[in-house]
Amino acid sequence: MKAMVLEQYNTNLKMKDVSEPTPGPRDLILKVHKCGICGTDLKIVFGKLSQIISLPHIPGNEIVGEIVDKGKDVEKYSRGDMGVVYFYISCGDCEMCRTGRENICFNIKRLGFELNGGYAEYVRIPAYSSFVLLKIQVFQHQNWLFYLMLLQHLTIL
Ligand SMILES: [Zn+2]
Repeated sequence: MKAMVLEQYNTNLKMKDVSEPTPGPRDLILKVHKCGICGTDLKIVFGKLSQIISLPHIPGNEIVGEIVDKGKDVEKYSRGDMGVVYFYISCGDCEMCRTGRENICFNIKRLGFELNGGYAEYVRIPAYSSFVLLKIQVFQHQNWLFYLMLLQHLTIL
């Protein structure tokens, strides 16, 4: 698949051919329809988050996508579902997660940060959390989803 890859800090992203993600038993594969540009993406490009970024890296944490594949244990979602990705991937097991504060999970990984993000044709996300993908069937137009994604981002801030 094509992806925009950061190979060195303070350089432009380059379009590269990279391996397509494959789903684990509890994962979803999304076709990325939109991915916003966040100020944090610029910090990543300029090397200001180099302590958590491994190069080469695919940025992008404001993702709207459509499920095109899923793991064998995923029952909650169906191929063709579209939604907004909650980019915080928490462990679900630490004290913070068990007390409803998964945004400060001790083992957190974030799409576009510690994990590859949405500046690609496809992205893999875990399906275990209802926070990961907001199942939206009312809004069929992608731009509505994009606006909802921005709203989701603002509510996190
Ligand atoms: Zn946790």
